Amino acid sequence: MTRTYAGARERPFGSRPVTTALHDVDLDIRAESSLGIIGESGSGKSTLVRLLAALDAPTSGTVEVDGRPVDAAGPARSLHWLRALTGIVFQDPYASLDPRMSVGRIVGEPLWALGAPGDHRARVEEVLLRVGLDAEAAERFPHEFSGGQRQRIALARAIVHRPRLLLADEPLSALDVSVRARIIDLLARLRTEEDLTLVLVSHDIGVVAHVCDEIAVMKDGRIVERGRTADVLARPRHPYTRELLAAAP
Ligand code: ADP
Ligand code: MG
Repeated sequence: MTRTYAGARERPFGSRPVTTALHDVDLDIRAESSLGIIGESGSGKSTLVRLLAALDAPTSGTVEVDGRPVDAAGPARSLHWLRALTGIVFQDPYASLDPRMSVGRIVGEPLWALGAPGDHRARVEEVLLRVGLDAEAAERFPHEFSGGQRQRIALARAIVHRPRLLLADEPLSALDVSVRARIIDLLARLRTEEDLTLVLVSHDIGVVAHVCDEIAVMKDGRIVERGRTADVLARPRHPYTRELLAAAP
């Protein structure tokens, strides 16, 4: 369903020379599978997610979702289909929810943006319940919620338009350890109940092992290992994967 080929990206960074964030990445993600991406900070995980969501464009290579090329450099309206197909959750639920907007508006925003017909209130309330909040949450504002609840709100927004692909970039990292397990379970449940294809980025191999059927290990902008979760855990091939496993709690 989702394919990234040689998605290299070069970014000028201040006065420093250009950074190539990804090299020779050739990745196929099957529809309705769940792929966990792990690797240390700076290895290119977020860049890969941003390419899939057309938040960035590759300097060379192509990205396809559902068999269609993603043209992040084209006019914004040409990405309407990709927006309809994709939901995305970022690391920090404090930064990603607009504090001036009610939760109902935040969660319903993709429906407005996509021009979905009808009154969105019922759908917004339905997804709020789905992520473990109550319907009255729609009338409240983000600052009235804890970090874990805000990540539930972010998840509700990510699935409100019934996407096929959910991209989650370190969705637990900003949360207290005590609420992480509940958010992981929610993510795993949404994934199966909504028949989503899931791409989950985490630097915690335990998290991706719990949620994902497959793991891709990134290092220095490359995918150094990819396989079924059970195989990667039992028989890691790349020394870096062994290192990650040895360091895992
Ligand atoms: P990860 O998500 O695995 O931590 P990223 O995809 O964010 O990695 O980063 C990949 C590379 O791109 C790194 O070399 C990083 O320093 C660089 N990079 C990340 N964000 C920016 C940015 N805004 N401008 C320039 N370079 C960046
Ligand atoms: Mg990142």
